[in-house]
Amino acid sequence: MPTARIEAVAPGSPADLAGLRSGDELCAVNGEAVRDVIRYQLQVDEPVVELELRRGGLERQVVIEKRAGEPLGAALTGPVFDRIRTCDNHCPFCFIYQLPAGMRRSLYVKDDDYRLSFLYGNFTTLTRFTEADLERVLTERLSPLYVSIHATDPDLRARLLRNRRGATSLRWLGALLDAGVEVHGQVVVCPGINDGAALDETLLGVLDRFPRLATLGVVPLGVSAHSHEPELREHTREEANSVLDTVERWQARYLDALGRRLVFAADEYFLMADRPFPPPDTYEDFLQHENGIGMARTFEREVTAALQSEGRDDELVGTAPRAGFFASVEGAPAAGYRAPRTALAVVDSDVVAHRRAPVAIVTGEYGARVLAPLLPSLEAAADVPVRLLPVANQFFGGNIAVTGLLTAADVSAALASEPDDHRYLLPDVVLSDDRFLDGGRVADLPRAVEVVGTTGADLVRALR
Ligand code: SF4
Repeated sequence: MPTARIEAVAPGSPADLAGLRSGDELCAVNGEAVRDVIRYQLQVDEPVVELELRRGGLERQVVIEKRAGEPLGAALTGPVFDRIRTCDNHCPFCFIYQLPAGMRRSLYVKDDDYRLSFLYGNFTTLTRFTEADLERVLTERLSPLYVSIHATDPDLRARLLRNRRGATSLRWLGALLDAGVEVHGQVVVCPGINDGAALDETLLGVLDRFPRLATLGVVPLGVSAHSHEPELREHTREEANSVLDTVERWQARYLDALGRRLVFAADEYFLMADRPFPPPDTYEDFLQHENGIGMARTFEREVTAALQSEGRDDELVGTAPRAGFFASVEGAPAAGYRAPRTALAVVDSDVVAHRRAPVAIVTGEYGARVLAPLLPSLEAAADVPVRLLPVANQFFGGNIAVTGLLTAADVSAALASEPDDHRYLLPDVVLSDDRFLDGGRVADLPRAVEVVGTTGADLVRALR
């Protein structure tokens, strides 16, 4: 098992006072190896913490006494040290199989680890879940978790996951819900496979077998130009409409039976079907926001609130990407398993010189459709001409039109013919650790751009 390593020590913390340093290997805490940051958090919660460390090949023991619950002050380099549990499914719609070759290695990791579900909101299929995992989830109260359902019919689910264990692994979902664990589900809809009557059957199956499910997101598959699956294709407009009709019908049934809507359709469906987004209050608490559900309504609300705040920055609020439990785990590495989008608070000197210049908001094709109705109000707030610069995703091709999957290559192509003296605003959702998905950097773009946060409040702040 790889050893946990300390990445950073908080000045003045018990770890600092005991002489712990960044780079120290953490062999054991209270006699137990460190498996992951979840366990570590519990291990270092004790008032007396015995650490077995290795530094420069020499082993040493350190005993730290502190108040129970007082943070130790040592951050670890990763979330999991006994290896991330990888997925043994082969879903035809898996986006990892649809990536072109030669991208960052971390993008090709197929994880199916309930710990990452708890830490980051990753969806797990539970095909590798065990009795021991269930016991740990219940003992350590690892809640909420996120589960890919796709279909409740056993044969169809096994077909969608290309794994015969897919037929039976939803029994763990039942066990988790029965034990009071909060679980959010998702169905990735593949037209002609699990839509239509199959989707109806799945929504009936949820009501029948999993009525305690907190929410269920219904999202369309992404089909990139690099897919090798002949049976996969994007939805037609009629199919997108039909999925929305099904979700609305079931929201009414769930409301009747359970007092809540439970199921929500992805924003992408409304764009594909060219239908208005539902009113904000029908998203209940926007609990599937990170899954692309209710993002457009949230953004619109943030812009409206920010515009009404009349420049009082302290009143501007946005929906920051949810960091979940990870944000509060003191052993969490500084960079996290999912790196921060950017450390660039880019205000390039050229850009500052152009503050009064016309503005172009760089965005994906779907983002442009969400932003278009807000443009007149944004322009009024900026007091300069504001336009959208929608970027077509040639890199992935297919039906990929969300802003988060834009690459440096496509943004460069779009910017190359644009005027030099305009301001270009780029949402940080396209970056991970300052790099685009294709590895390109902001500094390599052919025009100076300002990286701005992805919330409506961030955009209004940048425009004012
Ligand atoms: S479970 Fe997720 S990671 Fe695994 S093959 Fe299916 S889509 Fe890909």
